[in-house]
Amino acid sequence: MIEVIDLKKVFENGYEALKSVNFTIEKGDLVCLLGPSGCGKSTILNLIAGLLSPSDGDIRFAGNSVVKTEPKDRNIGFVFQNYALYPHMTVFENVMFPLTVGDKKKPKAEAMAIAEKYMELTNIGELRNKKPGTLSGGQQQRVAITRALVQNPEVLLLDEPLSNLDARLRLKIREEIRRLVKEVGITTIFVTHDQEEALSISDKIILLNEGVVQQDDDPQNLYLEPANLFVAQFIGNPIINILPVTVKDGVMSHEEFHVPTSRFAEDRFKEDMPDGSYILGIRPEDVLPVAGEGAFDATVHGVELIGRERILNFEIGANHLKSIVSIENEIQEGAELTFDFAYPKAFLFKPDGTRIY
Ligand code: ATP
Repeated sequence: MIEVIDLKKVFENGYEALKSVNFTIEKGDLVCLLGPSGCGKSTILNLIAGLLSPSDGDIRFAGNSVVKTEPKDRNIGFVFQNYALYPHMTVFENVMFPLTVGDKKKPKAEAMAIAEKYMELTNIGELRNKKPGTLSGGQQQRVAITRALVQNPEVLLLDEPLSNLDARLRLKIREEIRRLVKEVGITTIFVTHDQEEALSISDKIILLNEGVVQQDDDPQNLYLEPANLFVAQFIGNPIINILPVTVKDGVMSHEEFHVPTSRFAEDRFKEDMPDGSYILGIRPEDVLPVAGEGAFDATVHGVELIGRERILNFEIGANHLKSIVSIENEIQEGAELTFDFAYPKAFLFKPDGTRIY
């Protein structure tokens, strides 16, 4: 449905915001553009919408290049972060507006029927006579999405649509957005910097950093099979533990432990792992206190309760680590524990962040 090919964007001041970005999006998929502030997410959205033109590369819809197509002819619905509703119009007038002007103009009865249909889908029927200023953030959000959908776009672009909502409402609305786009069957690109939000609603995530795609994959793979150190650190909460290690003659060493490399699953880590310096990445759920022998001992200096789980904080050498245990595991601050790794779940990166195992 959408192909982005070698897309580059250099702004007038010479800043290279996108460096050869490639991805494809299947029809009907909900895809997140995810990444830290400034990585180029909005730039990509604006290029797809036609609000910016690329410095190089191509964007194709259903096989046809659209880079020379006017924004209004791209058949895109764009919902901005601030919703951009018309403040002097009621909800109903806002939703009707695109159907009363321009080439999407419809006869009044037809326009009203379309507006009613989508207002029912998005549950805003009861708000029809209200002005945007009297609505909550979540309600304004729904109105903005409804106004985009009535135009029957082929692609829906949502730029950080949940950023103005409180935490609880974000959870609710993100579920609603997923249900809605699946019900309507519209191809949707959703921009967010919130990895948890992206993991929870996407069919696919395109994770960017500094204008470069780091991984383009389904949510589960970003967590379980990160392409590199950046992805491993960006996805997951609490953040993955990172330990500098050296490997020599089949033994992995850190200032606080020495373990045979053969303990790691053989299909991923090899006993004959080349000697050298590496970065070991291990998720907090994969470093656990054990009763018997483990990799190292540590003193817990902080315990945080998060719902069903406790996060244990401790140091080994110069490194700060976190371990997630069940709430039933009543470990207190100051506890002296032995920890071991779930070896097959570990990742190994080269110092430049490339993943090798
Ligand atoms: P955020 O999550 O903060 O919105 P983003 O990932 O959407 O970030 P973009 O808005 O795409 O990031 O910006 C990418 C980079 O390009 C940023 O470093 C930004 O400062 C820069 N940039 C954006 N617009 C321009 C412009 N018109 N001229 C120069 N640089 C720009």
